[in-house]
Amino acid sequence: MCLKNSSIQTKYSKRVSSPLSLLSVPVAFTGLNQVRIGKKKMRPAEHLILGTVTSVALYPMLGALGSATFLTGSVLVDIDHYLDFIYHNRFTDFSFGNMFRYHGAIEKLLNRPEMLNVEIFHTVEFMLPLYALFYYLQSPVLGALFYGILFHIGLDMVSLLRRGLFFKRCNSITEYLIRRKFMARRGLVPAAVYFDALRIINEKKLGADKWHAKRS
Ligand SMILES: [Zn+2]
Repeated sequence: MCLKNSSIQTKYSKRVSSPLSLLSVPVAFTGLNQVRIGKKKMRPAEHLILGTVTSVALYPMLGALGSATFLTGSVLVDIDHYLDFIYHNRFTDFSFGNMFRYHGAIEKLLNRPEMLNVEIFHTVEFMLPLYALFYYLQSPVLGALFYGILFHIGLDMVSLLRRGLFFKRCNSITEYLIRRKFMARRGLVPAAVYFDALRIINEKKLGADKWHAKRS
């Protein structure tokens, strides 16, 4: 995701190493010095590396099950990007490859004024009940899951902030619905971005005619 603001881009386009890169010797061996939260989107591999290092660091406190759950939460929360893809294609395409192509296409449309994103497992409406459940049941596993997801969301936020895209993603479904309503008054429809991303990947694959016949 990148904004077309040259000053922001210049400011943040430099390579930014992981906070853990301060630990230069061990980090060099783990390859963490290659992890960056900078100009480009946080990729699943970067979430996996940072989640693994953090869960290993938390092992003395969380134990094996807790650490594994923390890591699982910190990586698998992005499954909502897949739900986003199948929702917008009206449950007609379940291909993981196309899901990655779809999100790749969205990356190139992020500067559009109607771009507004919400991912269900990255929202307050998902996290608060999860925390309440953890608190009520006093379940260490649910706690590890909650903090793993929170860790992931924190990394996403840092990445979005660095790329000048923080306000393109809503952290709440309520926020999304309200902002979408205000955008509609200005004639802006966020769904148009998702439709165009699907059109771009499908026109390449099927050709324009077949794609439009499929959608109609
Ligand atoms: Zn994410």
